[in-house]
Amino acid sequence: MASEELKKVFDAEEASLLVKELRDTFATGRTRSYEWRISQLKALLKLTDNHEQEIADALNSDLCKPQLESVVYEIAMLKSSCKAALKELKHWMTPEKVKTSITTFPSSAEIVPEPLGVVLVISAWNYPFLLSLDPVIGAIAAGNAVVLKPSEIAPVTSSLLEKLLRDYMDCSCIKVVEGAVAETSALLEQKWDKIFYTGNGRVGRIVMAAAAKHLTPVVLELGGKSPVVVDSDINLQVATRRILAGKWCFNNGQACIAPDYIITTKDYAPKLVDALKNELENFYGKNPLESKDLSRIVNSNHFARLTKLLDEDKVSGKIVHGGEKDESKLRIAPTILLDVPRDSLIMNEEIFGPLLPILTVDKVEESFDVINSGAKPLAAYVFTNNKKLKERFVMSVSAGGLVVNDTNIHLAVHTLPFGGVGESGVGAYHGKFSFDAFSHKKAVLYRSFVGDASLRYPPYTNGKLKL
Ligand code: NAD
Repeated sequence: MASEELKKVFDAEEASLLVKELRDTFATGRTRSYEWRISQLKALLKLTDNHEQEIADALNSDLCKPQLESVVYEIAMLKSSCKAALKELKHWMTPEKVKTSITTFPSSAEIVPEPLGVVLVISAWNYPFLLSLDPVIGAIAAGNAVVLKPSEIAPVTSSLLEKLLRDYMDCSCIKVVEGAVAETSALLEQKWDKIFYTGNGRVGRIVMAAAAKHLTPVVLELGGKSPVVVDSDINLQVATRRILAGKWCFNNGQACIAPDYIITTKDYAPKLVDALKNELENFYGKNPLESKDLSRIVNSNHFARLTKLLDEDKVSGKIVHGGEKDESKLRIAPTILLDVPRDSLIMNEEIFGPLLPILTVDKVEESFDVINSGAKPLAAYVFTNNKKLKERFVMSVSAGGLVVNDTNIHLAVHTLPFGGVGESGVGAYHGKFSFDAFSHKKAVLYRSFVGDASLRYPPYTNGKLKL
């Protein structure tokens, strides 16, 4: 018999046993104490500190992710998230006293956060270390037992996560299940107290439908087409560098909040295109396919998907920069396209790769209608010095998050919720929002035996009505 056949598959029965084991442990109260939560957060930090190079190597192996990007955008961000939770946990766990009403006088009330129970985290391949462990920080901080299912599309990081969590964390309450659709489906059949999913909207719908069977709440961290509006009243060099950084320095465009397309005016477009081209050459040289500072496309499926967007008849004549590919190395050069038709494929699905189309309008204000005519994006960006334009952007554009005069970096601000709206997601996390995402806010009203008004008790006499 082949060794694969001997290998036990993780099916619904296995998944059910796993959930039962975690439920039994959760019921002992083990995960609820402040001390347990702190010990696990410290263990996560230690694991990251001790294995930084191994983690960066795994990310390089899965995505050719440059060391600097791995350290800054996955490892350092995870550590910062962990440190924030360690610092704030006592405060987050403290019940919040709230006012009561005259109807309940005399009384006092508080909101007591309690863990939800046993939760499932399903993560994606593009930031496979950060996106796996950042939600786990929230789950632990809130006192839950948790199962993490990393993405099979980043297999080296997935198995490293399994090994490191087994070595460092409390395995009676924190487990990793590796696998793809079959394993995730087996997990989704179970009753969870929360499911936290990061990935595309098609699978997001599968997750939500599975959760609905058990009335399980979900957080869905999805994607979308995040636009960048570029006005002419800007510091062009700074704006250009920040747009390029958001697009190509974050995993070569394979990031949920990467600029998906630019909108600028017809008059300003030539100047912007020149600046983008010049700065791209400063970043990646004359032969970007050879650059070590760009991640590769994750696999041949995504390479074929991106090639299809680029090769569509409607857009192939619109390339103003880049367009080179090397299938054997899964590389596509940073590519800029100008005036692509709105009904093209590239303008109707999330690009999630190194292609950047530019749409043009007569007046910059028209951009807001273009954005609002599509599905609500995960992020939207504007570059302008014009105060009125900034205000209009903030008031009229609906997206998970907005940034004025930069791209992407809002995700590093723990005091801001990170999540989508409409098709870009349900719920949010980061900082205290992560703790809240995995907590139930229990309403508690305290009464004593004094002040027992007879008004509320029968018989309901007319006299009582007049009071
Ligand atoms: P992916 O292919 O890694 O899938 C995500 C998870 O879903 C994986 O763990 C996978 O095993 C599981 N999965 C896949 N098919 C499934 C099925 N049929 N049934 C059950 N589970 C299944 O990642 P992806 O979806 O390619 O990720 C890219 C998408 O995720 C983009 O749309 C991107 O914008 C979005 N994203 C969002 C965020 C965010 O924080 N909002 C972060 C990263 C990526």
